[in-house]
Parts: sequence; structure tokens; C-alpha cells
Amino acid sequence: MTRQRLPSHAGYLVVGAGMHGMSTAWHLAMALERTGRGRAADVMLLDKTGPGAGATGIACGCVRNLYMTSPLHAILRHSVDVWESDPVNLGFQQVGYVSVGEANQQADYEKIHASQNAVGYASDLYVGGEAKAFLKRLWPDFNTERADVVLHEKPSGYAGTHAAVRGLTEKLDHWGVRQVYGVAVTGYDTTGGRVTAVRTDEGEIKADCVVICAGAWAPRHWQWLGRPATLDLHYADGGVTRGQDMWTFWRLLEGEVYLNGTAYRTADGRDPPVLHVELMGTPVVTEDGRAFLDKHFYTYVRYAAERVGAPGVQGGTIPIRLGPEAVLEPYGHANDLYQADDWFADYYCATLAYLMERFKGCRQRFRQRRNGGIGAFTPDNVPIFDWVADNAYLIADSNHGYKMIGVGKLVAEHLVTGRKIPELEPFAFGRYAEGRTFGERNSNCPWV
Ligand SMILES: Cc1cc2nc3c(=O)[nH]c(=O)nc-3n(C[C@H](O)[C@H](O)[C@H](O)COP(=O)(O)OP(=O)(O)OC[C@H]3O[C@@H](n4cnc5c(N)ncnc54)[C@H](O)[C@@H]3O)c2cc1C
Repeated sequence: MTRQRLPSHAGYLVVGAGMHGMSTAWHLAMALERTGRGRAADVMLLDKTGPGAGATGIACGCVRNLYMTSPLHAILRHSVDVWESDPVNLGFQQVGYVSVGEANQQADYEKIHASQNAVGYASDLYVGGEAKAFLKRLWPDFNTERADVVLHEKPSGYAGTHAAVRGLTEKLDHWGVRQVYGVAVTGYDTTGGRVTAVRTDEGEIKADCVVICAGAWAPRHWQWLGRPATLDLHYADGGVTRGQDMWTFWRLLEGEVYLNGTAYRTADGRDPPVLHVELMGTPVVTEDGRAFLDKHFYTYVRYAAERVGAPGVQGGTIPIRLGPEAVLEPYGHANDLYQADDWFADYYCATLAYLMERFKGCRQRFRQRRNGGIGAFTPDNVPIFDWVADNAYLIADSNHGYKMIGVGKLVAEHLVTGRKIPELEPFAFGRYAEGRTFGERNSNCPWV
């Protein structure tokens, strides 16, 4: 395993060893060797802490494609290709993903279903009685009263974060990517639109190409590059929102529940699909009758023994908007400011108990531990994949993107061959000025 100190030059300098930095560095190494345009050793991955120190190390790991933003469907197709390329080492469990909504979401689900299948992402749509019957076949104790529409994504699933980070580290080691950890970027020197040097707390490094994959720290790198803190958003219908913050932090609420002997398996004994339920017209009420009047019914759950450390499930709900500033250090579970609120355990267990008989009384089994984390969202809550200087590329996934392991593959192809990648084009920064700001939503949640 290579853990080197800082050299003075790198061909490709990838900043940030999260999902995107690790995937990009791995795919850059492979693309350089494959095309003969360079060597894997031309790639250097740098992180101020180490692999998985950001959101990638604490994500729930759900891999889904339930987005109203249709161009994301092709991004997920590529991502599942990467997950499927080595599911064992990357920890990918291809159990599928089942989303449940009320009748008001039917038209949106139909659109998503058509778009997913058009790009080769196989999903089935069930409506009315068929939706209820489908859920009962999987989970016989499912409360289907308000379940009017169901989308079943077959290639989706989940990937445990520890396995994925370890698997990606092995790929980097295997290809001989140089990895420098414990060194922080502190700024960028730019001249004539190019990054001429990357400043770090161990001196400067020059690079032919810089790829910035800084997760929740992206706003800081954006500022160092001299980019604007606010902007106008132009939409396809001619509408304009002026002076929008470039970055908004949101705080994610997640938690775990021990099973303690309760079988969380499908009727035929399998690891169930990840379950996602948004019921816009249904309140969340605890088993002893306390209603969450100011909250929407939005929940997701997956089997998560690898995370809980015992048979258990993990999931969460809609994140909470913080605004354009947030305390980033320490990140994740270590930060007292960003733990799930006291109400979360009651809320989350109430949603599970409402959905399945087997989860009745599960509040007693909620696991008290540190959880949650924050993310930096873009103005339309959709990723930005684009050049931010003539030789610097930004992957800012708007906190969507543990699942998007394929972005690194597409970006690496673009960087090495110079070829335009049509799947990445809709996510260019220029969309905000050019009337292509994303805006379709079918959800109370910002991930659209
Ligand atoms: C609690 C939680 C649950 C989530 N659940 C899911 C989920 O179920 N499914 C899903 O798809 N997504 C999920 N996400 C979102 C997903 O985890 C992120 O979108 C994704 O992991 C971001 O990857 P990244 O590589 O962009 O950033 P990160 O993983 O945050 O990595 C960025 C890295 O950059 C490094 N870095 C930053 N600044 C510097 C600097 N100046 N110098 C050197 N290094 C630097 C950091 O140390 C860090 O390691 C979740 C996020 C959270 C917080």
C-alpha cells in the first residue's frame, strides 16, 4: 500500500478521497494505461485526512435511481455498471429498490419509469391494486392502505460504506495510484484561467490537471478558485431566481434499529429491496398516538447488519436545511452540532411501525449512537460536473452521490480522451445562466 509524502508535481492531482475522488483516480489510472496516454503512476490522490473521511465514510449506502431529474438516470446506469464490476469487493448488494407513493405521485412515477427504461435501467411500475399486491408478495405484513403506486428498480440496492472504501482503496493500490493522506489543500494559485499551483499545508504542488472532489468542503474550494457566492438561476420557462446562494448546507437525519430476532426478510427469505416511502397526504403518528404535525411522511430503510454490527436496519428521512454556512470540522459523527434530533427516533420508528406489522414496538430497539452528517447542496440540488478552470475539473454531487460511483469513470474518460461525454453535459455549471436549471420535483425532499 502506497502512502507517500508530497511530490512537487503530479500529472493528475485528485483532491479528496471520497467516493468521487477514489473512483476518478482508479478510472484515470485504468484509462491512462488502456489508452497509452500515460501511466497509472501519473495519478495522485490527496486527502487532508484519508479515504472515507467525508460523507462517503458515513453514508447509508442506498443505490437508487428515483429522480425526477431524468439525466441522472443515465448517470446511475453507468454507476451500477461499476458497482456490478466487482460487487463483492465493493460491498454491493443488488437487492433492488422499491419506492412507494400515493396517487398524487402516479404521473411522476410513470415519467421516471419510462425514462429509466429508456436508458436501460430496468424498473417495473405497479399502480392501484397491483401496487398493493406487489408489496404484499414481498412483505406480507405491509400496510398497503395508502400505497397507490410502486416503482421497483431492479439494478439498485445498497453498498456498505466500509466495504466500498476498502474495495476502492484496493483498486488504487492495485493500479499503483499514488496516495497522499494527511495533507490539506489550502488554496489554488491561478493565472490566465489555469491553476498553476495547488497550495497545501506541506508546500505547493503543480499539476497538469486537478480534479476537485471535496464533498461538503466544495464551497471552500469554490471560494479559493474565486468563484461567485451567489448567482441567478435561469429556468427553461423563462423564469429567473436572482441572487441565489451558490451552496446550501443540509443536515441529514439517520438512525439504526436492532432486529433482535425479528426477521427482516422477504416472504421468500431474501434480503429485501431498499424500501423508500413518501406519503404526502399521510401524517406520521407514533404507536401511542403522538402526531408529527410539522413533518412529512418520508422514510427509507435497508437491511444493515454490516453497519449496525448485529442484525438490524438503517434509514432516515428528509434532511434539514442549514443555510449557506456550516461548521465543517470535525466532520460527520464526531460533530455534536449535527446529530439526529431527539424527535428523530420516535418519528423514524413510527414510520416503520406504520408500514409493517413486524416493526410494531421497534422504538425499544432504536440504537442510540452517533449518526448523521452534513452535505453541501448546489442551487438546484442537482450535481455539478464541470471544468472550473482550464485545467481543473469539479465533481460536486450535491450530496446525492455515494451511489454515483460511475461519475468517476465518465470524468476519467473525458479527461484522458478529451471526448465530450453526453451524460455529463446536462450537469455543467453553465446551465444556471443558460436556462437549463433543473427544477422538477415530486417530493418534500431536496433530492429530486
Ligand atoms: C449521513 C449521510 C448519509 C448519506 N446516505 C447516502 C445514501 O444512502 N446514498 C447515496 O447515494 N448518498 C448518500 N449520501 C451522500 C453521499 O455520501 C455523498 O454525496 C458522497 O459520499 C460524496 O462523496 P464525495 O467524494 O463528493 O465527498 P466526501 O466523501 O465528503 O469526500 C471528500 C473528501 O475531500 C477531502 N477534502 C476536503 N477538503 C480538502 C482539502 N482542502 N484538502 C484535502 N482534502 C480535502 C475530505 O477529507 C474528504 O475525505 C449520504 C450523506 C450523508 C452525510
